[in-house]
This record gives sequence, C-alpha cells and structure tokens, in this order.
Amino acid sequence: MKVYIGVPRGFCAGVVRAIDVVDLALEKYGAPVYVKHQIVHNPYVVESLEEKGARTVEDVDEIPEGATVVFSAHGSPPEDFAKAAKRNLHVIDATCPLVTKVHNEARKYDGDGRKLILVGHRGHQEVKGTMGQTPMALLDDREGIELPDWDPETPIAVITQTTLSVDDTSRSIDEIERRFSDVIVRNDLCYATTNRQATVKALCKLVDLVLVIGAPNSSNCNRLRDVAEANGVTAYLINGPGELDGSWFEGVTKVGITSGASTPESLVQDVIKALDAEEVLPIEGAEEDVSFVLPKELR
Ligand code: SF4
Repeated sequence: MKVYIGVPRGFCAGVVRAIDVVDLALEKYGAPVYVKHQIVHNPYVVESLEEKGARTVEDVDEIPEGATVVFSAHGSPPEDFAKAAKRNLHVIDATCPLVTKVHNEARKYDGDGRKLILVGHRGHQEVKGTMGQTPMALLDDREGIELPDWDPETPIAVITQTTLSVDDTSRSIDEIERRFSDVIVRNDLCYATTNRQATVKALCKLVDLVLVIGAPNSSNCNRLRDVAEANGVTAYLINGPGELDGSWFEGVTKVGITSGASTPESLVQDVIKALDAEEVLPIEGAEEDVSFVLPKELR
C-alpha cells in the first residue's frame, strides 16, 4: 500500500498559540489553571494539558473566585467576560486572532447600520462566541438555506465561521447575494481551513481512500472528511490508529492521510506506522509561515 500524506496539515498558528498560552500560564501562575471549553477540539491536547494542571470547564460559574482562566481558541461571547469579572477571575484570552477579527467585523458592520448574517454551524463554540457580539441571523447550511425575511434592499454584511467548507460557504453566499441587493461579504474562512481543504482535494486525485486524523467534535476535521467525500473519495475521520478498521482497506492500494488544525502530528505518525505502508509520499500544497503574538501578560 502507498500512503500519500497531505502538506500542510495539522496544527495552525491559532492552535499553537492557544496551547502555548495554557503552558505558559501554568508556568507563570502555577496549577490549577482553568480553561473555559476545550482549549482546542482535540482530546489528546486537552489530556496532556490536564496532566500538567489545566482544568477544563464548560461554564465560567464552575471556576472558583479569583482563579486564573484561559478562554479557548474558539472565542467567547461578552457575557462570559462579564461573568468572569463578577467572579474576580484573572482571564487570559486565547481566542485565535482570526476569530477576534470576525468579532470586530460584526461590531463594525452593526455600528454602520447593516444587518448581519453569520454563515456557521449552530451550537459550535465559535458560533456561540461570534453570535454574542451583536444581533445577527445564523445561516446553517446543514439545515437548508433559510434566509431571514428582511426587505431585499436591507444593507447586509455576511461574516462566516472560520472553519467551514470553502465550497459550501460560497454556495450559501451566492444565495444571500441573490436575495439581497446591498451585501458586503467578508471572507472569514481562515488560511488553515482553506489550505487543508485544498490539500484534501489534491489527495483525492491520487488515492482510493482518505483518512483524516482528528477529533469528532472538530469542525475543521469534519470539513476535511466532507471535502474528500464531495470529491468522490471515501473518507474516515479517526482520532488515531486504534480506530483503524481492516475492512476499509479491501481493494485499496493508495491511501491519503491528512489532519485538522487541532491534531498533534504524533497521531498522524502513529497512523502511518500502523498502516505499515511500502512508501510514504508527501503531497505539497501551500506554504504556511503564519504565527501570532501571545497575549501581553505572557510575552
Ligand atoms: S483554524 Fe483558523 S481560525 Fe481556527 S484557530 Fe486555527 S488559524 Fe485560527
């Protein structure tokens, strides 16, 4: 069996920064450091930080008064910051700067008098954080394209969750532009999402099966699997080698492997090892040299 491995894959700059924030907060302030929501959507990352003294909680109210808390990379609504202030918590915000940019856009266009439509997936942590910034309608393409019942001449601004499918999002935006005449569209899909999906498309031209390594609650990992399937290749999303199933490989001679923005590279290497491939060939895509500065208290 030949394995083709996607490049770029794995950690993005926002995930690297968020993990660094928890590590450095533990070093500087000592354990425990609370983390509101999984710091990034990967159980191995979460467990390894918890072994060092991080404690993941879902609600700010679970955190003892005066404690240090890191807010996750996905972004948080203002009400979480208000709750934290009431409990006198020391908040370190690990929101990815590319998500903060979307929050800023939402407030700007709201201030300009435009109505906002967020293209995103209901219930995802990033969507909760963005929807808390200002009033907006949500368009979730998994529920069909249901647009708000506004006058077609209403000035609109469209913002998006950063980790959606490039192709599905562009279809949703086309529908919005067909319905409304005055629309500003922001391209908020981040570089990591765009590049990893392009890599999957390139893999699909070469392989019979795609394995995406990552967690089932990771939006960007799920989209990588969706992109492979939309390109006609069977794909599975697995956490690691323990979830491989021999029956998937019957008649398969070429396997593509890639990973989402929150997946540690060690898991990818473990899967490659478990497949015992005769050859491992990298498929080169876009070069990435993005990095983000740390929050000022940890610089
Ligand atoms: S996937 Fe994109 S938006 Fe999300 S943390 Fe990574 S760089 Fe930031």
